[in-house]
Formats: sequence, C-alpha cells, structure tokens
Amino acid sequence: MLRQTHAAAPESTYAAAFHTAPLPMAVIDHEGRVLTANRALGSFLGTPPATLVGAPVAELGGLGLDGRTTAAYREVLHGRTDRMRCTRRLKHADGHALHAEIAVTSTAPGRQALLSVTDVGEQHELRERLRHLRMHDAVTKLPNRSLFFERLSSALEDSATGRTGICYLDLDGFKAVNDTLGHRVGDALLDAVARRLTHCAEGAAARERTDAGGVLAEGGGHLVARLGGDEFALLVEGSTGTQQLTALAQALLSALQQPFDLCGHRLTVSASVGVVERETAGTTPTELMQAADTTLYWAKADGKARWTLFDPERSAHLMTRQALSSTLRRAVDRGEFVVEYQPIVDFDDDVLRGVEALVRWQHPQFGRLGPDRFIGLAEENGAIVPLGRWVLAESCRRAKEWLGRRPEGGVYVSVNVAVRQVWDSDIVTDVAEVLEETGLPSGLLQLELTESAVMGSAGRPLQALQALSEMGVRIAIDDFGTGYSNLAYLSRLPVRTLKLDGSFVQGFRTARHSNPADETIVTALVQLAHKLGLSVTAECVEGPAQAERLRRIGCDAGQGWHYAKPMAAERISRLLA
Ligand code: C2E
Ligand code: MG
Ligand code: MG
Repeated sequence: MLRQTHAAAPESTYAAAFHTAPLPMAVIDHEGRVLTANRALGSFLGTPPATLVGAPVAELGGLGLDGRTTAAYREVLHGRTDRMRCTRRLKHADGHALHAEIAVTSTAPGRQALLSVTDVGEQHELRERLRHLRMHDAVTKLPNRSLFFERLSSALEDSATGRTGICYLDLDGFKAVNDTLGHRVGDALLDAVARRLTHCAEGAAARERTDAGGVLAEGGGHLVARLGGDEFALLVEGSTGTQQLTALAQALLSALQQPFDLCGHRLTVSASVGVVERETAGTTPTELMQAADTTLYWAKADGKARWTLFDPERSAHLMTRQALSSTLRRAVDRGEFVVEYQPIVDFDDDVLRGVEALVRWQHPQFGRLGPDRFIGLAEENGAIVPLGRWVLAESCRRAKEWLGRRPEGGVYVSVNVAVRQVWDSDIVTDVAEVLEETGLPSGLLQLELTESAVMGSAGRPLQALQALSEMGVRIAIDDFGTGYSNLAYLSRLPVRTLKLDGSFVQGFRTARHSNPADETIVTALVQLAHKLGLSVTAECVEGPAQAERLRRIGCDAGQGWHYAKPMAAERISRLLA
C-alpha cells in the first residue's frame, strides 16, 4: 500500500495525555468553572484534582487571578479573544515559590477554554539579570541614568505630599586625568569615587535613621547613581529640607578630599555639586533634573570644588533673559518700544544743542525695561537690526518735528548704533532712506558707535563710516576712555565727537574729592582731541561742580542729570517752545 492513513487516536488517549502531563492544566467552561483538572494542577494546588471540578477558577486563590486579570479572562471565556496570559509569583503546595505564567486559551470559543500554569522562573531570572545590566553602569556597578530616572519618577509619583532632593555631582578636571593617564586610570578613579560616594551616602542614611530614633524604614538609603561620564547623582527620597541636602553635599565633597592611590598614581580630585530640594507635589523628574543641572553649572561657574544650592531668583533671572530674548523680535513688530531723549547742552552758553535717543521696552509683563536689560540680548540674537532701524526712524521723525519748532538751527539727535548693525545690515542704505522719508537734514543726525566697534575697521565698517560721513551725518565715539582710547587712530576715521565716558566724569564729582590723576588725564585727552579736530561731550554730568570743572578743562558739551534726565519726546517739544 502506497498510502497509509492513521486512524484518529481515541478520546481516552488525549485524556490520558492531559491527566499525566507534567504541566498543571484545567479545562474550564464559559463561566470559568473547572470541567476537569489534571493531576499536576491538583498537586500544584495541594488537593485531589476531582475536588476542583465545578469550582470557579477565579476563586482558586492559589492561582492568584485577581481584579487586574479578570477582565481579560472574561473576554476569553466569552469567546471575544483567543487567549490571555499573565505572570504571577505563586506558591506551590509543596512550599516552593515560583514565577508562573498563567495562560487561558479558548478551545471552543464561548464554550470551553484550557487553563495552564507554566513555571517561567528561569526566564524571569534571565530578564531580571538583563534588566540589572541595562540599569547599571559597567565601570562602577552603580545604578545608571535609566534606573536613576525610574527611581526619581516613582519617588515623585508615590509621595505626593513629601519632599525630594538631589545632589548632582561632577568631578572637576576629570578629563585631564583621562587624557594624561589614560582610560584605565580614569575608570579606576571613577570606580573609587563611586565607592566613596556610596559609602558616604550609606553612612549618612544610617545616621539619619538613628537620629530619627529608627523611625525611618530600614533600607531607605539614598540612591547613588552614575549618570554618565564623570557625573554622579544622589537621590534622597522623603527628604526633610534643604539643610539635609546641603549637609549631604558637604559630606560628599569631604569624602573625595583624601587623595586616591590608583595604579601607582596618587590622584587628588575635587567636585562641584548642584543641590536641589523641594516639595514633591507638582514637580516633574525633568524639572528637578534641569534645576539640578543649572545649579551644578552655577557651582562650576562660581569657582568649582563647592556645592551650590538652587536659587529660584537666580533661575528666574535666567528665565527672564530667555523669555525676553525670545520675544524681542515680535515686540518690535508690536511696537512695544519707546524712545526717551536726554538733552546735550553746550558748555559755552548752556543752550540745548542735541538730544541722545535712548530706547526703553514697555514690556506687557515686566513693565518698563532699560536698554541694559535687552540691548545685549538683541545683539546676540540679531533683533538689534530691526530694533535699531526703528529707533533710527523714530528719532529722525522727532528731530524733524523739532526743527519745525526751532527753524534757526534745530536740535540734533544722537542715535546709538550697535556693532551688529554695522556688520549685519546695510546701515548706509537704512540711514539714507530714513533721512529721505523724514526729510531731516543729515547734519542733524549723529550716530554713536563704541570704540571697539570701529577699532581695526578696515573694509565694511570703515566704508560705512566714510559713506555716512560723506552724507553729512556726524559720527561720535561713545563711552570714550573705557576702551583703547587710541586717539591717533580715531582721528584718521571720519569721527567728529568723543563722548567721554561717565566713569571719567565721576572723579569730578566735587571740587575737593576729585582724583587729580583723572583730571590730568582728562585735560590731556581734551587738548589732544581738540588738536585732532574732535569735539568732546562729557557724559553723566551729575552736579554743578562737575559741570564747571569740565567746562574749564575745555569740554565742549555736557549731558547728564545735572541738566536733565532722559524724557519723553513731548517734553523736549515743550522745552523748545
Ligand atoms: P550710553 O549711550 O552711554 O547712554 C548713556 C546712559 O547714561 C543712559 O542710560 C543714560 O540714561 C545714562 N545717564 C545719563 N545721564 C546720567 C547721569 O547723570 N548719571 C548717570 N549715572 N547715568 C546717566 P540708559 O538709557 O540706561 O542706556 C544705557 C545704554 O544702552 C546706552 O549707554 C547705550 O549704550 C545703550 N542704548 C540705549 N539706547 C540704545 C539704542 O537705541 N540702540 C543701541 N544700540 N543701544 C542703546
Ligand atoms: Mg550713547
Ligand atoms: Mg555713553
């Protein structure tokens, strides 16, 4: 015979296989009641299999099916899904504990299902070992960043009413060790540091337990983790206040003070620590880590080898910087800026000759901000270009208006120009357009540049200065005396005026308390400037004595509170009327 068919095995064969299988199993009906259970299941639960018949599986405590699984379990019983699985830590009737997977598989949808219990202890162990590897650092055996974040997240979730603290530590100059002595020594150092930190954290936790009269749970030590590179972190769950954290930070620093003897080298290291401690409610892991990171950066910036405590105000200042920086451009479009004008007065006859345009930001949230708060930011992010253009146009428009009130000569307007406006924008075209649009004679516009902006100016800035000067626009050097004070150089540029910096003028405050050296220097400067054909305007003239002495020395004009503070355009108009 070529073909041989196997007769179906009799029912009794399957039944025998079922009952003798080493795997604990039961056939259950659509209501989850046991129709038949095998011997293995009987011995697993510690009862003859026959006694299980008719019992609802969900009520067999030994199987550990609970609320979390019953929904999935019902789905299978009602034939809506094929199978469900869950793992449970169970106890065999003989006493040994095991990790078991309970599976329920539909055999006749909506009528019958097979339940089985598989020992997955080995798999479980393997998974745990892999998880341990994944969650720990190979060099120091410490928990790594992943585990640290996991613990931090659950600390923040669990204790909604408690407090949490972090010491974020970074070794100072670790890179040098790695670079000069090699990675082997570097790794050995990291490992040794890890052990000292762990020892220190354990000691502190034990002391805190004793201090608390053993009230704190045993084992509630502080987690020490290596976050990567030479960065370590210590997590304090249920902290008691900043004091506890700063004491810990100090202890960590002290623990690292003793030199390390490694691979024949004696190494001394220091570290910087950022300390954050706060109420758990409303804090996210990312926020806390960011705060710790910022604080660590402060510790480094403040000189390293120290701990620094998070300071909300210092951080708010940074945030404001960011908030301001990111909204500058839109603020120009929205017209949130205003220009104030400060009189510049001729020393000879006390007549108002010009005004300096000083910009202010009328911020919807922070109120009126002075230029020192935002000009630097605007230079950094380029917003200075549109902002400067606006200030220029606004100032020229006003100056033209004032010319109408005092046709015999008008008042010049002096506009500050940032370095970037000369380099990154076409200042010459901008000025030409604004003069054209406003109809202001070019001789009534002065541009103030700092010495550093024009120093070494070959090429573009020099061409720009020359073009502007040829248009008839005056060029002034602002804050003169704070930089190079290179008069010989400046005289070769088309510069018309020096604005003597306020710091020079300060020395002239009263007749008696002046610094004679300052006076000698300023006298010499003014004389030299005059020889080179430059006029001198003194800034920050605050009192009559200063004004008098500056006049005697030969300064041509003065600007400062002695005459007037910066004011709104309308007040300048009234002054002229
Ligand atoms: P600056 O050009 O040297 O302007 C003079 C600064 O001294 C102004 O400060 C003015 O209010 C202040 N001041 C005037 N008189 C006195 C006085 O008698 N005593 C003292 N202690 N200070 C006096 P402000 O308005 O805060 O401006 C600061 C700086 O911001 C300016 O220094 C200028 O460099 C910059 N700035 C202002 N407006 C603009 C602008 O539109 N564009 C650019 N690029 N920079 C500007
Ligand atoms: Mg100025
Ligand atoms: Mg100045």
